[in-house]
Amino acid sequence: MRFPHPLKAALIDMDGVLFDSMKLHTLAWQRMVAGQGIPCTREEFYRYEGMTGPATIELIWKRERGEAPSAEEADRLYRIKAGYFKEMAEPEVIPGAQAMTAALRGAGVRCVLVTGSAQGSLLRRIDEDYEGVFAPSDRVTALDVTHGKPDPEPYLRGLEKAGVSAAEAIVVENAPLGVVAAKAAGCFTVAVMTGPIPRADFEEAGADLIFESMTGFAEALPGLLNLDL
Ligand code: CA
Repeated sequence: MRFPHPLKAALIDMDGVLFDSMKLHTLAWQRMVAGQGIPCTREEFYRYEGMTGPATIELIWKRERGEAPSAEEADRLYRIKAGYFKEMAEPEVIPGAQAMTAALRGAGVRCVLVTGSAQGSLLRRIDEDYEGVFAPSDRVTALDVTHGKPDPEPYLRGLEKAGVSAAEAIVVENAPLGVVAAKAAGCFTVAVMTGPIPRADFEEAGADLIFESMTGFAEALPGLLNLDL
């Protein structure tokens, strides 16, 4: 698949793309799940990245307890996890991510936030650390969709909000399930390896371009945007 020309919109994931928050999320998840008497490793939560909180809880509870908790119970458990996350130190901005959004905005590309998160504490930081990048109406969060990643719905909603077709947009992701969602929505997908997940997993998920760092992607962007095809 070719990098879209002209590029009209970039659908950008939040955790692990804009903020270095996954190491904190994985710790918060492990603490909550272990606190319910379910043995788990922190590493496994990197593999669930992109899914909504309730979907992650359903997966684990079905596996460990044989059935999904009620919607109310899943919501209660997710709030415990979100509370642990909020207690931790504020995550840093991913190095290179502000340069990435600046390069996109500078080229007139509309930036749309597409996240499986409902973490209010982090969503509020979007306006501080990425001021003027994402219009309030150009944000898709866990609260806007019925099916989270790897379902294409979050990215399809992002395309709708931007008013563009899949051929006019790219997705920027750091999680294999997010890449699967983006490809299912028909988008050219850039994967950036900001965590411990190996390159092969992004290739398997169908990423069109893979960068080892956000700085690397930001540096490559002007060339990608100006390619004359
Ligand atoms: Ca992510």
